[in-house]
Amino acid sequence: MNFLITGAAGFLGSSLANQLAREGHQVRGLDDLSTGDPQALEPGVHFTRGDVNDRPKLWTLLQEVDCVYHLAARVSVQESLLYPREYNAVNVGGTVSLMEAMRDVGVRRVVLASSGAIYGDQENQPLTENITPRPRSPYAVSKLAAEYYVRTIGTLWGIETVCLRIFNAYGPGQHLPPSHPPVVPYFLRQALRGGTLVVHSEGQQTRDYVYVEDVVAAMLAAATAPNLNGLVINVGSNTETSVRALVKLVLEAAGSQANVVYNPQTEGGVARMCADLSLAGQKLNYKPFISLADGLHLTLARDPRFKTT
Ligand code: NAD
Repeated sequence: MNFLITGAAGFLGSSLANQLAREGHQVRGLDDLSTGDPQALEPGVHFTRGDVNDRPKLWTLLQEVDCVYHLAARVSVQESLLYPREYNAVNVGGTVSLMEAMRDVGVRRVVLASSGAIYGDQENQPLTENITPRPRSPYAVSKLAAEYYVRTIGTLWGIETVCLRIFNAYGPGQHLPPSHPPVVPYFLRQALRGGTLVVHSEGQQTRDYVYVEDVVAAMLAAATAPNLNGLVINVGSNTETSVRALVKLVLEAAGSQANVVYNPQTEGGVARMCADLSLAGQKLNYKPFISLADGLHLTLARDPRFKTT
């Protein structure tokens, strides 16, 4: 098949692009390299640097494409509190530009990388896709708006759409910006350096951590599985892990005795997050294989930034 991946040089995009290319598909990748690294892409991926709002570029890249994976986005919840306009322009505006270009060229299917963040605080766990979302950051709002645009434009123009609500993905190659780093690579780096692991609040908040290979497996299935049109599907591990428990697993995996500091002044975000995977199992035949303990070991072994010798 012919694929276009937006955000292809990013953490999830590069893993997906490399896997598709290894399976013999034609893969084009688009990324503006605002955070992505084209070195992460294997030679089989045809990479173009560009903005997801650049429609002429999209028209060219979409020719003969069977399925688009739309991953290009600004991805930090914390950063989105500071720059909501930018999050709207890229995550919402970019999605609308892409859908318009897909309509113009006549592409059949799009898979959107949405987020478990759209659920916000919910009492009932695990989270099923039919719960009313309660986004609590501009990032989460932008992802929910992107879902609505994808599904609405898809219905209007006969484009098949699938939105995957990915929970806390982690693994080798995850972007680690100095401000607002994602929790897993941040803890791993601090543990290896003997630095301090700073935990927001009491660390009782729970998240659903899912290893990159499991996410890629769900994305691969979403390109070809039948009867998915218009669906929103969770992709996670269905395992609820507190940040305290994550700290313990990270220290064990890294063989570290780094200090841990709990900062009651900072907010820990939503209290609980755990994905219900019934729909993903039914529709994508999805089942996560990698436990958090194993995934942390794999990340340490496979990410050159965490090599200690
Ligand atoms: P990432 O930052 O590594 O990847 C995003 C990529 O998009 C980057 O390479 C960046 O350079 C590119 N990009 C940003 N703005 C762009 C623009 N205007 N035009 C073209 N490219 C642009 O993040 P990731 O973790 O790989 O996330 C990929 C997708 O999955 C995102 O849409 C994100 O919202 C979604 N998602 C990720 C997670 C997670 O835990 N990693 C969870 C839920 C959803």
